[in-house]
Amino acid sequence: MSRKNQPAWTPPAEHAALLPPFSGNAYNGWGEAAPRRPRQIFWLRKSEGHPYGRLLDAVKARFVSVPAYRDVYAKADRGPGKLPPPAENRRTASADSWTRQVRDFALNLPGARPAGYPGAGSEAELVGIARIRPEWVYEGFESSLPNLIVIGNAMDHGRLSRVPSSAEDPEGQLEVCDQYNRGSRVVNWLAHWIRAQGYEAKPHAGPWVGSLNLLPAAIACGFGELGKHGSLINREYGSSFRLAAVETDLPLNPDTADEFGADDFCAGCQVCANECPPDAISRDKVLVRGTVKWAVDFDRCIAYFNETFGCGICLAVCPWSTPGRAPKLAQRFSRRAAEKRAAGVPA
Ligand code: SF4
Ligand code: SF4
Repeated sequence: MSRKNQPAWTPPAEHAALLPPFSGNAYNGWGEAAPRRPRQIFWLRKSEGHPYGRLLDAVKARFVSVPAYRDVYAKADRGPGKLPPPAENRRTASADSWTRQVRDFALNLPGARPAGYPGAGSEAELVGIARIRPEWVYEGFESSLPNLIVIGNAMDHGRLSRVPSSAEDPEGQLEVCDQYNRGSRVVNWLAHWIRAQGYEAKPHAGPWVGSLNLLPAAIACGFGELGKHGSLINREYGSSFRLAAVETDLPLNPDTADEFGADDFCAGCQVCANECPPDAISRDKVLVRGTVKWAVDFDRCIAYFNETFGCGICLAVCPWSTPGRAPKLAQRFSRRAAEKRAAGVPA
């Protein structure tokens, strides 16, 4: 997979012809000092009328042209279908009790993952709860529900390491799809269960983008820190997991963010930046919608992402994703971060 000393990959002309006449980075708010809500840009459910609609339609067409990719969603069990309305007789319990019940439900939902894979026998590895913030809601959408239950599904690193995927070798990307399907089953069953208790619940299952940006929500509820590759780093699974969520008015206790030194680690690591074929990973933090943070150059990433049915190289090569390594790194770097804080060194 290594591309050391290779020139940056350049996109084919037909890809450039599908892009709108402005930069995806500008659309995402690169260089903007004022905070604002994010804009949906990719994996929308409806592409019609959207500036990236032509590109998205081309990506979808490319996916469904390969039977393995088409079938992984079309034939998969993604949980129960149409949601019933919330039950008329609302059950009452304390937020502590509901929080416990939600975690138990999500973590113990039986799954079909074979033995030897992360999460064998259940459908989720991570559950976190956050209060929904307006800045997580995409422009053009509203959220009237107060709480978000975020689900994390760990990927099998052996399968993930088969990326970049192709029509001939789809295995790496099929692992990504399988985890989105597991996440979909959890959030759909969880939403059914919450409605049966008399509360509102709206599931969000990938890979399509819904009304909420799940990444900052996952950070807020303690799933990990933002890495240089623009994805999360978790202290157990590294970057080898996917997200799903349920919006709800069920009374729940929010979790807190988990900082264990991954950001510091990224400052001195270039693995993902060196391995990204189109050189899309910025080596320095970028000002995006009022926050200086790690960010991926969308215009560079998206063409390679499309060509390789979802890429994922940066997730696979991240040292934190190597099975068994993240807990050890987290232990070492959280100690360093605590020492720095004690010494008054700014983060
Ligand atoms: S590969 Fe290195 S720089 Fe990139 S996200 Fe992982 S730890 Fe951070
Ligand atoms: S997903 Fe995008 S940022 Fe990550 S390695 Fe692939 S092209 Fe680079």
